[in-house]
Order: sequence, then C-alpha cells, then structure tokens
Amino acid sequence: RPVVDISQVDKVYGNETRALDQVDLTVREGDFISLLGPSGCGKSTLLRIVAGLSKATSGEVKWWEQDYGVVGQPGRELCFVFQSPTLMPWARLDKNVRLPLDLKHVKKSESMPKVRDALTMVGLGDFEGAYPRELSGGMQMRASIARALVTEPSLCLMDEPFGALDEMTRNRLNDDILRLWKERGWTVIFVTHSVYEAVYLSNRIAVMAPRPGRIAEELTIEAPYPRG
Ligand code: ADP
Ligand code: ADP
Repeated sequence: RPVVDISQVDKVYGNETRALDQVDLTVREGDFISLLGPSGCGKSTLLRIVAGLSKATSGEVKWWEQDYGVVGQPGRELCFVFQSPTLMPWARLDKNVRLPLDLKHVKKSESMPKVRDALTMVGLGDFEGAYPRELSGGMQMRASIARALVTEPSLCLMDEPFGALDEMTRNRLNDDILRLWKERGWTVIFVTHSVYEAVYLSNRIAVMAPRPGRIAEELTIEAPYPRG
C-alpha cells in the first residue's frame, strides 16, 4: 500500500530556479528510502513537499491515496526531523518532547508516560529534567528524534538529521534509527549525501541529480545480512 505517491512533480522557486523536474516516487509501507545526491539537487525540496511544508508547482502528491487532509488522522501521523536539533532552549527536555502532544491538547497525565517512553527509546531516560544546553549535540539530536516519536508517527521524514555530528555519534544514531524502524514498523524517508549512510540504512535508494532536480536512478538493496 503506498504511503506517499508522487507523480510528475515540478517545483520552481520564483520564476527560474527549477528545483524538481518531473519527479515520480512511490513510498510503500515499511520502506526505508534514502534520497541521496549532492547539495542542491532538490532533496530537501522533495522532502518538504512530502511534509506539506512546501507545495509542488505542478504534479500530484498523495498521502495514503488521499490529499493532505488525511495527514494527522489516527495511524496517519507524520513527523519531520530537521538538520539541527531545534529544541526550545528555555524548556527542559520533557517539555520539549511533549510539545507536539501539547499542541494537540493531550492531557499531561496522558502525555507524560509517552514522553518518558520516547526519551527512553533514544537513550535519554535519565535526562527529562535537563535543559538542552546541558546536553551534547548528539544528545540534542536524539531529543529531537524523541519529540518526533512522541506522536507515534507512521511516516517519518528526516532531512540529514546527523549531518552535523561526528562520525562515531552518527554511527550510533544510525543504529538507533534502524532499531526504531524495525520495532515501530515505520516508513522512513531519509535525506543524506552520504552513500555509506544510504546503503547502511535503506532498502531503497533514490539517487537524485541536479539541474534540474530529478531522480536519476532508483536502487533496491537486498541486504546480505538482517538489518539493524
Ligand atoms: P541543504 O539542504 O543543502 O543543506 P539548505 O536547505 O539550507 O541546504 O539550502 C539549500 C540551497 O537552497 C542553498 O544553496 C541555499 O542557498 C538555497 N536556499 C535556501 N533557502 C533559500 C531562499 N529562501 N532563497 C534562495 N535560496 C535559498
Ligand atoms: P538539496 O536538499 O539537495 O541540497 P534543495 O532542495 O535545498 O537541495 O535545493 C534545490 C535547489 O533549489 C537549489 O538550486 C536551491 O538553491 C534552490 N532552492 C531551495 N530552496 C529555495 C528557496 N526557498 N528559494 C529559492 N530557491 C531555493
């Protein structure tokens, strides 16, 4: 069943910057798909269109075979993890992670167990009272992932979430993401310009090429070992 179905999507910024040119992509339930390619080839643009943060200039985007209105309904939650942590500096971790549930007016008694669960899942179970500045970059990124997890999304969009981190932290987080993907039955679209990361994480890779942005090649990976 397609979770996201994109056909013949163009994106033109202003009058001239053609960022996407006739992009087709079908993301199925359980896919871990990486968008791979050099800077400026349209990866973020495509992800933002899937997230509903940006509108395609032309073409069609369907979520669960419907229009964007279906997003947010039970079982059709999506989350977006940005390139950098984007935590509220004045709030402790529990409050930061609770934000998406607060916005949905979920009662505190109901949301707090979910917040603890999400923090534990990313290895920050002991830090719910900490402020972001007390944590390392990798921990802040993990907290951002916890905030994305707390709504129990079925579609998870990540825009180079580990780009700014050192290699060791990055590898560890890659393993965390794989574990969560397995445990949670997620569908993931993951933007990266690391071939290593794409091959390690995904079952499908869409290689994008710039000028204009298009999907130049689509690969399916048969992992020689069980992933995660
Ligand atoms: P990346 O996704 O490659 O890490 P960004 O998303 O920050 O980088 O930006 C990608 C490219 O889009 C950059 O070349 C940037 O200059 C350009 N860009 C981003 N926002 C705008 C804007 N509002 N107007 C013009 N160019 C922009
Ligand atoms: P990537 O994520 O692969 O680095 P982007 O999707 O950020 O690529 O950018 C694709 C192209 O669109 C680039 O040429 C970039 O400069 C341009 N671009 C991105 N965002 C904007 C924007 N908000 N306004 C104008 N041009 C943009």
